[in-house]
Amino acid sequence: MWWARTSLRTKLFLSYLAVVLIVVVTVFIVMSVFAPDFFGASMHSMMSGSGGAGMGGMGGHENGNSDVVSTNLDAAFRQAVTQGLLLSASLATVAALALSFIVARQIANPVRRMLTATRRIGSGHYAERVSVPPANAGDDLGQLAASFNDMASALEKTERRRVELIGDVAHELRTPIATLTGYLEGLLDGVVEPSPETWARLHTESSRLRRIVDDLQELSRAEARQIPIRAARVPPAAIINVACDRVAAEYAEKGLELRIAALTGLPDVMADQDRAAQALTNLLTNALRYTPAPGSVDVSVAREGDMLAFRVRDTGVGIAPENLPRVFERFYRVEKSRARALGGSGIGLTITKALVEAMHGSIRAESAGLGRGSVFTFTLPIAN
Ligand code: ADP
Repeated sequence: MWWARTSLRTKLFLSYLAVVLIVVVTVFIVMSVFAPDFFGASMHSMMSGSGGAGMGGMGGHENGNSDVVSTNLDAAFRQAVTQGLLLSASLATVAALALSFIVARQIANPVRRMLTATRRIGSGHYAERVSVPPANAGDDLGQLAASFNDMASALEKTERRRVELIGDVAHELRTPIATLTGYLEGLLDGVVEPSPETWARLHTESSRLRRIVDDLQELSRAEARQIPIRAARVPPAAIINVACDRVAAEYAEKGLELRIAALTGLPDVMADQDRAAQALTNLLTNALRYTPAPGSVDVSVAREGDMLAFRVRDTGVGIAPENLPRVFERFYRVEKSRARALGGSGIGLTITKALVEAMHGSIRAESAGLGRGSVFTFTLPIAN
C-alpha cells in the first residue's frame, strides 16, 4: 500500500493537512446545513418577543419599525453565526482529535516498542527484537526498527562470540596445562623418568602455552584495532624476502620446496613492512603445517586493479568448500586434533586477516578440495 511506503515527513504533512481539511469541511457543512435554521429560529423568537412589531405597523411607526427589524435581523444573524460556529467548532474539534489520536498512535507505538526493546537489550536480553507494523514498513520508523533489529543481531552475535571466546580460551589452555601437570605429578611421584625426553616434552608444552597467550594478546589487540600500523612505500620483494627467510630453515628441515616467482616490474605497496611480513609468514607457516612432504609451496605477487596480491599456493591437504568461509574465524580449525598436534591454535588466520585489513587490504582462501592444496591470497594497496 502506498501509505506504508510513504516517508514519515510526508505522512505527518498529510495528517496535518487532513486535520485542517476536516475542520474546514465540518465548519462548512455545519454552517450551510444548520446556520439557516438557527437564523430562522432566532428570527422567529425575536419576532414573537417584540409583539409582531417587526414586519407589521403602519404610518408614523414605519421608521421606528424598520429600525426594530434591522436590529432584530442583526441580532438574529449574530446569534445564528455564534450557534453555528459553536456547533461546528465542537464537531471539528472531535473529528480533529480523533484523527490526531490515530496518527499519533501510529507514530508513538513503534517508538514506544523500540524504547522497551532498548531497555531490555540494555539489561542483557540480546534476543529482543521490535516488530515492524505493516503501516510503517516503508517509512522512516520502519527503517529505524529494521536498523534497530540489525544492531540487536550484531550485539547478540558479539555477546555470543564473547561467551564462546571465554570457553575456547579455557579449552585451549586446559590441554597444555593438563599435560604439564601430569608430567610434573609423575616426576614428583617417581613414575616418570626425569629424562631428556621428559624435559623436552615439558618444554614443548610450556612453549605452546606461551604461544597461545602471545596469540591471544595479539588477537585482542587486532580485534580492538590497536595494532599500530606505520605505513610507508615498501617494495613487495622486501616483504617476501623477510617472510621467506624466517621460514626457510623449517621448510628445508621438512623437505618442502619453497619457490618464489619472479618479482620484477612490480610497483611498491603502501604498508607496514613488519606487519605485512608477519601476515605472509603466518600464511607460509600454515602452508608448511598443512603440506606433507614431498610437496611444494609457491609464493607469487600479481597486480589486481589498484592492489597488489600476495599469493601462497601449497600442494597440501586442502580445505573442503564448506569449511573455506570459516577458516578466518577465531579458534576455527578444520581438524581440531591434527591442527593442535601441529601446534595450531586456530587464531593465526584471524590475526592475519586483522593485520591485512588494518593496512586497507583483504584476504581470501581458495581450495580445489580436500587433498588438492590451498591458495591464500592477501592484497595491499599500491603506493602512488
Ligand atoms: P592454526 O593455528 O590452527 O593453523 P589458523 O587460523 O592459522 O589456525 O588456521 C585455521 C584453520 O584453517 C587450520 O586449523 C586449518 O584447518 C586451516 N588451514 C589454514 N591454512 C591451511 C592450509 N594452507 N591448508 C589447509 N588448511 C589450512
